Amino acid sequence: MNEVKKPRKPLMFYYALALLAIVLFNSFVAPLLFSPRVTEVTYDEFMSMTEQKKINEVMVEDNQILFTDAENKLYKTGLMNDPDLTQRLYASGAKFASQIVEQMSPILSFLISWALPLVIMIGLGQYFSKKLVEKAGGGAGSMMFGMGKSNAKIYVKSTSGIKFDDVAGEDEAKEILSEIVDFLHNPKKYEEIGAKMPKGALLVGPPGTGKTRLAKAVAGEANVPFFSISGSEFVEMFVGMGAAKVRDLFKQANEKAPCIVFIDEVDAIGGKRDGRIGGNDEREQTLNQLLTEMDGFDGSKGVVILAATNRPESLDPALLRPGRFDRRVPVELPDLQGREAILKVHAKKVQMQKNIDFSAVARAASGASGAELANIVNEAALRAVRDGRRLVTQADLEESVEVIIAGYQKKNRVMSDREKMVVAYHEIGHALVAAKQSESAPVHKITIIPRTSGALGYTMQVEENEHFLLTKEELENKIATFTGGRAAEALIFKQITTGASNDIEQATRLARAMITRYGMSDEFGMVAMEQLTNQYLGGDTTLACSAETANHIDQVVRALISAQYEKAYHILEENAQQLHALAKYLYEHETITGEEFMDILHKNTPQLNAAG
Ligand code: ADP
Ligand code: ZN
Repeated sequence: MNEVKKPRKPLMFYYALALLAIVLFNSFVAPLLFSPRVTEVTYDEFMSMTEQKKINEVMVEDNQILFTDAENKLYKTGLMNDPDLTQRLYASGAKFASQIVEQMSPILSFLISWALPLVIMIGLGQYFSKKLVEKAGGGAGSMMFGMGKSNAKIYVKSTSGIKFDDVAGEDEAKEILSEIVDFLHNPKKYEEIGAKMPKGALLVGPPGTGKTRLAKAVAGEANVPFFSISGSEFVEMFVGMGAAKVRDLFKQANEKAPCIVFIDEVDAIGGKRDGRIGGNDEREQTLNQLLTEMDGFDGSKGVVILAATNRPESLDPALLRPGRFDRRVPVELPDLQGREAILKVHAKKVQMQKNIDFSAVARAASGASGAELANIVNEAALRAVRDGRRLVTQADLEESVEVIIAGYQKKNRVMSDREKMVVAYHEIGHALVAAKQSESAPVHKITIIPRTSGALGYTMQVEENEHFLLTKEELENKIATFTGGRAAEALIFKQITTGASNDIEQATRLARAMITRYGMSDEFGMVAMEQLTNQYLGGDTTLACSAETANHIDQVVRALISAQYEKAYHILEENAQQLHALAKYLYEHETITGEEFMDILHKNTPQLNAAG
C-alpha cells in the first residue's frame, strides 16, 4: 500500500502546545467557570447582616469588603469610613479570613487548572487522529475497530474476506504461503510429527505487487483473525512506547490465536542497527522487543507473523535468523500472464463489454505492478462514466494504460519494445550457449520483467546435481555462458549494450580465479597468486605476486575470456534459427520455462543426419 506518512512534529512542538493550552485555559476559561458568584450588596445590608450575626467569614480589602454568609455564599460591598466595624464584626462572631475567594481545595484547583486542559487536549488529539485512521483505513468491507493501545486493527473474519483467488498471479508466493494456511487449519498434523511451523515469513517485493493482499488472503483462506499494523506506527514519539505497543500486540495476538499478525513496512523498525552514535534509541528498543516476542512465543499456538518490505537489504540480520522471519517469499512484478489475470480479477467488479481482449491490454502494460493494473481498470471505468457510457470498452482500457503508464514512466522501468527485444535475445543467448555445451536444460525459468534488483532479465539456473568439484572444462563453459548474452546482442543487432556489465564481472572473477587460485593455466601452473581474505563478506582477494606477474595474469585472463566469447559467438551463429525462435517466444510471453525452452530447441533443430 502506498501510504502517505504523516510528518512527525518535533517533541518541542507538543510541549509548547500543552503550555499554551494551560495558559489560555487559566486566563480565560477557568475564571468564567470556577470563580464563585459574588453578590454585590449595599453597605447598610452588610451592616444589618452583621447585626443579625449572619456573617461567617469576612475580609477587608483595600477597596472592598468580601464576606460569606452561613451558607458560604459570597458577597461584596464597598468600603466605608467605619472605624468600629472591626469591633462590631468581632462581636457578631464573624471569622476574619485572609483568603476568601479560595474556596476549592488546592488539589482540586490544581486538577482543574492544570490537569483538565491537558486531558481535554489529549482527548481532542486522540479524536482527530482516530478520524484520520478511519479515513485512511476502511479495508475491503471488513469490519475494523481500534484495539486499545496498540492501534492494531483487527479484521474480524468477514464474509467478504479476501481469498487466494483474489490475488492473481504470484503462484510461487501462494505455494509457499499455502503451507501456512494448512498449518493454521490443522496444527495437530504438524504437532504429531514434531514439525515446527516457521514463526514468520517475509514478503519481499516492490510496492503494489499485492503483499498486503496476499497476507490478507492467508488469513481469509485459513479463516483466522488478521491483525495488521504498519512498522512506522511503532516508531513513537516517546522512548519505550513502541516497545510497549509490540508487547501489547503480541498479547492480543496470543489471546486470539490462531491468527495472522501482519507488519507492513517492517524495515521502519527492523532496519540495520548500525551503531551510529546518537542512533534512534526508540527504534532499537522496539526492534529488540519484537525479537524478544518472536523468540518467546510458542509457535505451535498458531500465531503466524507475516511482514512485508520492499527494502530487504536494509533489514537487520537478527530478524532473518532461524526462528524469526526465516521464510522469504518473493512477490515480484507480474509477468504477461499474471498481468492478464490481475486485470481480470479487477474487471469483475466493473461493468465491461463482452469479449474484451485482456491479453492485449496486459501486453501494453509491460512492467506495471498489480496496484497499477487495478488503477488502470478503475481509470477505464472513470473514462466510461465521463463519456456517459454504461459499459467499459477495450478502447477505455487501452487509453488508461497510456494514462497510467505515462504517469509512471519516469519512476518505474517500463521497457520499450526494442529494449525488450534486446533483453530477450541477450537472455536466450546465455541459455542457448549453456544448453549447447551441456546438452541439457540450462535454465529453470527465464523472465524479462524488470526486477527490483535493476536487472532487466532474470534467469533461474538449474542447479545440476549438487557437485562441488568443477573441471577446467566446466569452468570454461561457464565463462562462455556468461559471455553468451553479449554475443547474442552483437550477432543479431550488430550493437552492444550496457546490459552485460554483471556478466562481465562474473566472467572476469571466474577467469582470474582459474588462473590465480585453481592453478588451471599452463603458464603459471600450481601457484597461488591470490588469497581469499573474507569469504563471507564479498569474497575480496589480495594479490600476492610481483607487479610483473600481475601484468601477465591480466593478459592471460583477457585471452581466456575472449577465447570463450569466440566460442559462444560461434555456437549462436550456428544455431541462429533456434536463437530466433526462442527469443521470439520469450519476447511474446515474457517468461519461458526450462521445458518450453527444450521443446522449442528440439523443434527447431534441423534433423540433418536423422536417417544416419
Ligand atoms: P503491497 O502491499 O505489495 O504494496 P497491496 O497488497 O497493498 O501491495 O496492493 C495494492 C493493490 O493493488 C491491492 O489492493 C490490489 O487492488 C492491487 N493488486 C496488487 N497485486 C495484485 C494481485 N496480484 N492481484 C490482484 N490485485 C492486486
Ligand atoms: Zn546477461
